[in-house]
Parts: sequence; structure tokens; C-alpha cells
Amino acid sequence: MKSTLAALVLTMTAAPAAYAQEMTVTKADSLEGQIGAAETFTGTAYVAPVFGANVHDVSAGHVTFLPGARSAWHTHPAGQQLVVTSGTGWTQERNGEKHIIQAGDVVWCPPGVEHWHGATDTTSMSHYAIQAKVDGSAVAWGAQVTDEEYHGH
Ligand code: MN
Repeated sequence: MKSTLAALVLTMTAAPAAYAQEMTVTKADSLEGQIGAAETFTGTAYVAPVFGANVHDVSAGHVTFLPGARSAWHTHPAGQQLVVTSGTGWTQERNGEKHIIQAGDVVWCPPGVEHWHGATDTTSMSHYAIQAKVDGSAVAWGAQVTDEEYHGH
């Protein structure tokens, strides 16, 4: 037990030297986004970077969907976490039920599961989107979500 503790302390104190790098603080006002591309979004979605691919190839963005806006159908090769930060939206996987998501809700989209996410038809919704790259890509885009699919159940 004593040697295990000692080894643990050694490991912990050795870590900073082994990874001698400085912390990075990115100021909020430098994280400017843009309106989501018409090929991959319906309506107005504002997509802003949060952090780029880190050493684990994980990146994050913050997306705000105006009422009626949603992503196209898509999949993520390593899955995706969504953390809703404000408003009320909808998300749905192919052949699944449409879920209502609200501020504070957390969504896990498993690898390869086709889905979309967006606002409801009457409310806006913002979420963090966190995903990892596989072979250089974190998303594979498909067809737009039709109005019929969007308004369905
Ligand atoms: Mn997604």
C-alpha cells in the first residue's frame, strides 16, 4: 500500500515535467462564428468554435438555431455529446422518436447513428457540440431534414 502511494505521488509529480507546456486561455471575443452552410443546415444556425481538435482529436462548437432551423441528417464516426445551453429544441435519430431538449440537457449520439438536431418550429435552441475526429473527420453529412420529417414525431 505504502509503495503504491509513493508510486502514485511520483507519477503525479513527474507529469508536469513530462508534459512541459503552458496553459492556453482563449478569450471569448476571439471565438467568432458564422452562419451555418446552406448545404448542411436549414434556416439560420450560428456556428461558433469553442476549441479546435486537441491532442485527442476532440473539438467543440457552440451552435444557435433560430426557430425552424436544424442540421441536415448526419453521423459522427466517434459519436457526439450535445450540451444544451439555452432554449428548447428537437433532436431525432433515424426511425426514432423526436426528443424535446432544453437548457441543461445532455445528449449522446453514438458513433454512426444517423440523426439531426435543431430548434423547434417556435423556439430557438443553443448547444455545445463535442466530437472527436476519425481519419480526419468528425461528421459525415447526409440529406437535408425535410419539413415533413421536421414536423413529424
Ligand atoms: Mn450531431
